[in-house]
Amino acid sequence: MNFIETRGNDGKNALEVTFSQAILNPSASFGGLYVPKELPHLGLDFVQTHLTSSYKALAFDLLKRFEIDIEDQAIQTAVDLYDAFDNPNDPCPVVKLKEDLFVQEQYHGPTRAFKDMALQPFGSILAYLAKKQKENYLILAATSGDTGPAALNTFKNKEGIKVACLYPSGGTSDVQRLQMVCEDGKNLKVIGIHGNFDDAQAALKNLLSSVTFKEELNKHGIKLSAANSVNFGRIIFQIVYHIHSYIELLKQGEITLGEKIYLIVPSGNFGNALGGYYAQKMGIPIEKILIASNENNILTQWINDGVYDIRGKELILTKSPAMDILKSSNIERVLFDLFGAVRTKELMDDLNEKQIFTLTQDEKSKIQSIFSAVYSNDAYGLDKIKEYMNNNYLMDPHTATCLKAYETLKTKPLKAVMYSTAEWTKFSPTVLNAIKQNQERYHDKEALQEIAQICDTKITKSVQDLFGSTVIHKNVINKENIEKEIINFIQN
Ligand SMILES: *Cc1c(COP(=O)(O)O)cnc(C)c1O
Repeated sequence: MNFIETRGNDGKNALEVTFSQAILNPSASFGGLYVPKELPHLGLDFVQTHLTSSYKALAFDLLKRFEIDIEDQAIQTAVDLYDAFDNPNDPCPVVKLKEDLFVQEQYHGPTRAFKDMALQPFGSILAYLAKKQKENYLILAATSGDTGPAALNTFKNKEGIKVACLYPSGGTSDVQRLQMVCEDGKNLKVIGIHGNFDDAQAALKNLLSSVTFKEELNKHGIKLSAANSVNFGRIIFQIVYHIHSYIELLKQGEITLGEKIYLIVPSGNFGNALGGYYAQKMGIPIEKILIASNENNILTQWINDGVYDIRGKELILTKSPAMDILKSSNIERVLFDLFGAVRTKELMDDLNEKQIFTLTQDEKSKIQSIFSAVYSNDAYGLDKIKEYMNNNYLMDPHTATCLKAYETLKTKPLKAVMYSTAEWTKFSPTVLNAIKQNQERYHDKEALQEIAQICDTKITKSVQDLFGSTVIHKNVINKENIEKEIINFIQN
């Protein structure tokens, strides 16, 4: 199956590209994104076929249905990476919380956040392509905490790939920082920046438009690629686990075949939610996708009012930092799917030029027939963490945002699956604040130990081990020196 562009074609790019091409060069005409030309129809047959499949087999079959230009062996190698998750047979278990509420735990991978679900197999596919094309790639990442560790872990020691990862020094949790700075691998460079996440991201953008930088890469025969969630190579793996949710409820005897369910997704860049949207389009019985946001409530406004307005808006730093976002990239794929390329280009041009786009009444209704949205603040999230802890379930602050959607948006008596996108160990100071109802500033290490004691639970070994690990990447530098630093790195 081929891929086309969300904002139409500029006459310079090919009209259609293969999956490999869309992965290796993810920027499409007019600043758009690549999307599959059509989606395979799965329906209930597919669900029934996979009632007894392993997660790996489900993922393999789904990728095959897309008829992508990747050899079976490479797809198999990619999905085999789920073997390194806590339970290879069920990398993302679905757990019952209430009569009508279930949680899919998406954090059982190596870096304890849901980014692993897609970045692990995606990294394997990208490395396979680099090797096949005999090309060298530099992956640049700016991270606020979860993408960095997941990208470093998946590309570690992969031939033909180098990763340079920028993070705001002091802007991540201790666990997130240690996951990055202790990651060894000759092909990895982790750089702390004096500044915040916006500074790291701005530095990355500068680099991408720097002529000297590009010349230097060319000299070394290195191409640039991106591992952010606009890459369809990540999205394809994010469809699988939504189908898994449905199959799990069936297997657990909670629904009958064909019965609809709700999905509740804590959203930022909308990659997770987009996977659910595609699953629904492909025939999985999904009643609605409920979008949970934090106080950066841009997605709520888009879905409820049909207006995407970032004029004069400033990013609010919340306790669910992976959802702190103003420009949510993947909604563009939904716009394209519903309204076509001409309209999508119009809307995205409006957003770029005027910082706002407005949907028509009809368009808004269309969106609202698929999604509902609500946001909550930190105080609400902390309350919910405590409430659920009292019922013996520990969750992180991103996951907690889902409960607002569960309480206010689920209008039918159907079952709902919410997504837990990070393990509590990754945001332990916040979780301890919730449990003790205080605002003290804890270090991760003490918070982890105290929570483990209060809740009589274990700290995940890989997280515990971080505190005794050797710091390999010690650099914390000023923005002005990033280019020089990365050029030094690629010369070695
Ligand atoms: C990335 C992330 C999200 C947001 O997911 P999107 O696909 O960008 O919407 C939510 N929670 C956590 C913990 C994350 O790391």
